[in-house]
Amino acid sequence: MTAGQAQVDSRVCVGTAMCRSIAPEAFVLDDTGRASFVPGAGASLADLIEAAENCPVQAIAVDEGGPE
Ligand code: SF4
Repeated sequence: MTAGQAQVDSRVCVGTAMCRSIAPEAFVLDDTGRASFVPGAGASLADLIEAAENCPVQAIAVDEGGPE
C-alpha cells in the first residue's frame, strides 16, 4: 500500500456504507454489500482517514505515508 491508499478487509466489513458517505469516490459497495477501495480515485488522505475512523468495525486500513 502506498501513501493515500486504503484497503478494506471484506471479512470484517458489514456494509454500512459509512465510508461511501464520507469519501464516495474512494469506496464502492459490491453485490454482497461489502465495500472496496477504488485505487487512483483521487480521494484526499484526510477523507480516507476520516472514513477509516468512522467505520464501525474498523475494516479500513489507510497508509498515511510518513518517514521512510
Ligand atoms: S464503513 Fe466500514 S463497514 Fe461500512 S461499508 Fe465501509 S468498510 Fe464496510
